[in-house]
Amino acid sequence: MTSLPVIIAGGGIGGLAAALGLARKGVASVVLERSAELGEIGAGIQIGPNAFHCFDYLGIGDEARARAVYIDSLRLMDGLSGEQIAAIPLDDKFRQRFRNPYAVVHRADLHCVLLDACRASDLVELRTSHAVSRYEQDGSKLRVFSGDRSPIDGSALIGADGLRSDIRQQLVGDGEPRVSGHTTYRSVIPTEQMPEDLRWNAATLWAGPKCHIVHYPLKGWKLFNLVVTYHNDVQQAVAGKPVSKDEVRRGFEHIAPRARQIIEYGEDWKLWVLCDRDPILDWVDGRVALLGDAAHPMLQYFAQGACMAMEDAVCLSHMFEQHGDDIEAALNQYMLKRRVRTARVQLDSRLIGEYIYHAAGATAEVRNHVMSNLTPEQWFDKLGWLYGGTGLDT
Ligand SMILES: Cc1cc2nc3c(=O)[nH]c(=O)nc-3n(C[C@H](O)[C@H](O)[C@H](O)COP(=O)(O)OP(=O)(O)OC[C@H]3O[C@@H](n4cnc5c(N)ncnc54)[C@H](O)[C@@H]3O)c2cc1C
Repeated sequence: MTSLPVIIAGGGIGGLAAALGLARKGVASVVLERSAELGEIGAGIQIGPNAFHCFDYLGIGDEARARAVYIDSLRLMDGLSGEQIAAIPLDDKFRQRFRNPYAVVHRADLHCVLLDACRASDLVELRTSHAVSRYEQDGSKLRVFSGDRSPIDGSALIGADGLRSDIRQQLVGDGEPRVSGHTTYRSVIPTEQMPEDLRWNAATLWAGPKCHIVHYPLKGWKLFNLVVTYHNDVQQAVAGKPVSKDEVRRGFEHIAPRARQIIEYGEDWKLWVLCDRDPILDWVDGRVALLGDAAHPMLQYFAQGACMAMEDAVCLSHMFEQHGDDIEAALNQYMLKRRVRTARVQLDSRLIGEYIYHAAGATAEVRNHVMSNLTPEQWFDKLGWLYGGTGLDT
């Protein structure tokens, strides 16, 4: 059975990273992607230094670095007063501390780097229009089903099929994700349309009561990524639905005009209702394991979901190398190595959403007081557990 390929359900960032990592260890895989085309949405993504370690491990360090925009700081602004609360410098000291930079990149560019590397590998086969529906295994055989197509035999199945993972439903069976009641609206605009006094080389967060605005440059400064979020307590999960500017404006009427004006410059806004899940302790069933959002979907507030998926891919490949033909042991060790760290990011993402991004009243005052008094070294110490990770050391 070990001569059979590993089957990976999902060709997102996590699934492709897993295929690449396994190929580096000489393990063949077949990626089954539900969509007719492999790709990513047209928005930005922040990548911490921990993700850069993953790029190097996966052999795509140069290509990924070439596509990134290297910002100077993570800037936190008070959305009510319009004043800066804090700026975490991403300078040489940051890079020395974490042995890598912090950057932003267009999702399609990052996905493309992963995809090109997968296409260039003899050990990765990519099949689109394959929605994996279920698996069967009996200890000696693993079979994966994709609608009415012929089943595929594999040595293992990695469920990298995202927030609404079908593999998770069979493996864990915990139903629909938790709908947070926070809705994110995204737009990407040409840099010349961004207000001149906000063209900062920073990932900027304007934090306000029950809402926030994020912006940063993308694609060699040709574009600005706009992500704005507010609590509208909707209970229905929606992804990528076009919306009017009026709907976007609605959640920001109480915000300082300097921040609020950004919404006016965005076009073609689309919305995502944010969802996550409670952490779980077991995401392996024999020769089947989950990875990325399928295993530990999180709110976006740490900007780490994709970084965690890449760390998973690194850890998974490393465990395949360590355990040779004992695939069940490899998957189990992978999960044991990953579950506490990823659970911490899931839980902390909720907390920082509440206490930093969307704080009001006294909570916001405490936030401003604490965060404005931290030195860069104190920030680095606080973030060390997260940005110091590599996927190998968790
Ligand atoms: C607003 C927002 C901002 C974010 N910002 C950041 C950020 O700055 N930094 C960061 O690191 N993360 C960020 N994230 C999180 C990040 O986008 C996700 O964590 C990451 O994309 C997860 O990758 P994945 O491969 O696990 O899942 P996905 O990207 O969801 O990929 C899953 C793939 O599986 C396919 N699929 C689904 N079902 C099946 C099936 N049954 N069979 C086969 N294929 C299937 C899908 O079509 C898809 O291609 C953000 C998320 C949001 C919502």
